[in-house]
Amino acid sequence: MINQEDFFKKITSHAKEYGFVFQSSEVYEGLSAVYDYGQNGVELKNNIRSYWWKAMVQFHENIVGLDSAIFMHPTIWKASGHVDAFNDPMIDNKDSKKRYRADVLVEDYIAKIEDKITKEVEKAAKRFGDTFDESQFVSTNARIIEYTQQIEATKKRLYGIMEQNDLVAFKQLIEDLAIVCPLSGTRNWTDVRQFNLMFSTQMGSTAEGASELFLRPETAQGIFVNYLNVQKTGRMKIPFGIAQTGKAFRNEIVARQFIFRMREFEQMEMQYFVRPGEELKWFEYWKEARMKWHLSLGIPANKYRFHNHEKLAHYANAAADIEFQFPFGFKELEGIHSRTDFDLGAHQKFSGKKMQYFDPELNESYTPFVVETSIGLDRMFLAILSNAYTEEQLEDVSERVVLKLPAVLAPYKAAILPLMKKDGLPEKAREIMDELKLNFMCHYEEKDAIGKRYRRHDAIGTPICITVDHQTLEDQTVTIRDRDTMLQERVAIENLSSLIFKKIKG
Ligand code: ATP
Repeated sequence: MINQEDFFKKITSHAKEYGFVFQSSEVYEGLSAVYDYGQNGVELKNNIRSYWWKAMVQFHENIVGLDSAIFMHPTIWKASGHVDAFNDPMIDNKDSKKRYRADVLVEDYIAKIEDKITKEVEKAAKRFGDTFDESQFVSTNARIIEYTQQIEATKKRLYGIMEQNDLVAFKQLIEDLAIVCPLSGTRNWTDVRQFNLMFSTQMGSTAEGASELFLRPETAQGIFVNYLNVQKTGRMKIPFGIAQTGKAFRNEIVARQFIFRMREFEQMEMQYFVRPGEELKWFEYWKEARMKWHLSLGIPANKYRFHNHEKLAHYANAAADIEFQFPFGFKELEGIHSRTDFDLGAHQKFSGKKMQYFDPELNESYTPFVVETSIGLDRMFLAILSNAYTEEQLEDVSERVVLKLPAVLAPYKAAILPLMKKDGLPEKAREIMDELKLNFMCHYEEKDAIGKRYRRHDAIGTPICITVDHQTLEDQTVTIRDRDTMLQERVAIENLSSLIFKKIKG
């Protein structure tokens, strides 16, 4: 069994070797936490985006799309609170010169205690066998009670500190917990400072006339400021949603986990506008609907879990994350937030424009409440990739690496392979390719032995390979080989389209 760190390294090098993800500006030694998607990566990414878009927009008659600009009026970020409060507390270790998010250091400390509890429970479960009562064990075992108390006390202090924005107390907490730098192993820390995560730039050609703009750190605000435009022109009735995908930018303090935390990334967000008082009902609805979306991709349910926020942001009255088990542990993949009327209210105040909706059923006007679902496209890409990457030992003792991607997301749906480069086989294969490529992303390949071509398509996750041989010329059938089972069967050319379609539908 390989350890998770090695496994993660394998995924990142596979992503590079097979044209999924490249370091940005690689020939200039790279740009930290910025990545480019290669020929296969861009297909996978487009397919994830489209799978999301279909589920949110196409399947919901009351949700429509939007594509707002990245540049927005700077006051928007004042109103949203990002100018004053989109900060992360940072701290440097003087020996390793590494920078950390102070809250993450404390959260990692808590996670370590949680791991200890899990280990104790696993040990006891083994010892007691069928008679094991986990809840009783957890509530009575002295060691676990102590661990739980430690966690509670640490969380209480952390949340208090974050609430008060007390940076001196933050450093004290890190010192009291004796947290060491994972690299240098020392406790030689700087003070904790706040760091705003927004990138800024200038708009205007002359220095005097230029105004400072921000690159949006989330796509949501573009939806809020357009909500009445969409509502009126689309004659939308509450409840309704607006969905948007697009780039967002954050000057992350620590960005060391490949495409998990990037400085330029893409979000897929949906804001659902509801009657005040009904937001918690819709919050529960969207929590469940989003989890169903994830599970519809066939990834095992035990790789997902909810994390309900104990400490809520000032604008939220409920919040939960959908966490995924990445190779480096369970981490946030998507957030579902009940944002009240905070954003619309703030834009009404700062812009002086009414943000109210007239509800014809109630015959009254109000500022709608908003429930948001927000997922990082790149994080979803990493989740899909890490779940799909599989190393298999074959019966003939050779090994293969196969990406077991859901067919609907695979870069290519089928590879079309003439067995040989002669006897009219390439021409026949081209004919099939020209027909199938009208509806599906397909790949034609005639170079190398057939086994080698199969392996290459295993490695990029192509669900089926279609081989054209001499028999094809006689009876209009081909061999199809299944990526996961490697089983082969003969099918008629005329059935290929419906077969691929079935595969994608799952
Ligand atoms: P984190 O706690 O990991 O920094 P967050 O709570 O700040 O995330 P949100 O502001 O809720 O994240 O953003 C919504 C989603 O956008 C996240 O669930 C994540 O999938 C994605 N996301 C946020 N920051 C990044 C980033 N730097 N790189 C890639 N994806 C990101």
